[in-house]
Amino acid sequence: MDHVLVLGGTGEARELAGELEARGGVRVTTSLAGRVSRPGAVAGELRIGGFGGAEGLADWMREHGVTALVDATHPFAEAITGNAAAAAALTGVRAVVLRRPGWQPGPGDRWHWADSLEDAAALLPALGRRVLLTTGRLGLAAFAGQTALEFVARSVEPPAPPMPPHTEVLLARGPFTEADERNLLRERRIDVVVTKDSGGDATSAKLTAARELGLPVVIVRRPPLPDGVAAVPDTRGVLDRLGL
Ligand code: NAP
Repeated sequence: MDHVLVLGGTGEARELAGELEARGGVRVTTSLAGRVSRPGAVAGELRIGGFGGAEGLADWMREHGVTALVDATHPFAEAITGNAAAAAALTGVRAVVLRRPGWQPGPGDRWHWADSLEDAAALLPALGRRVLLTTGRLGLAAFAGQTALEFVARSVEPPAPPMPPHTEVLLARGPFTEADERNLLRERRIDVVVTKDSGGDATSAKLTAARELGLPVVIVRRPPLPDGVAAVPDTRGVLDRLGL
């Protein structure tokens, strides 16, 4: 029987584990980094915590008889994606990367692309004074030097310092509706929104709300995939690629 290891932390990973379990005939283990204190239910087996680099991951795969590896991590989780590619090469196990497509601007969008969080921070003073930051709790240091700006930082878990001096922290977990996002942007008098190009529907309502209110959005580009690695956009693609 195939043993599929799904590197998770995304809605797609959860969906894939559910589909594989429902089909039956395969053993499925989802792996989470352990960043979120209450990760929610996952179909199949669950393991939590780092492996200790690519070699640790390869060892774990050998020890547990993994026959297929799916990297369904977040598009910005660059280290684990590199480790997954290396571990697949070390073990010879068939592997696939599941990446939801990135967001595309439409008519009326005022998007400014940035190559990094630091680049995003540098663009802000020209775009507004009050900023909604949705780039995750670990990236606030990049904005800490923007002492003249006021930030509303939204994240699932409390953000790690350092952070900008004028920061209101909002703890919330998506999905968010367009009405929620419009209200938030209005109530907090937001001038500009900062986001990573995470893609998907769960957190895209802020982009629609920003467009409706005519607000600019600074959007951080995804890091590239490792050399020679190609991604599929959905769970169907994973099943096809792995012959499951
Ligand atoms: P990262 O920088 O790529 O990974 C750092 C280290 O965390 C990895 O080297 C690995 O440790 C461990 N790790 C990461 N994902 C793991 C997994 N699924 N299972 C076991 N160990 C894992 O990752 P990150 O950006 O901190 O993201 C951590 C997790 O949160 C990922 O699973 C990702 O899908 C999810 N997530 C990330 C973002 C984001 O914006 N980055 C957003 C939403 C969800 P070892 O080297 O010790 O194995």
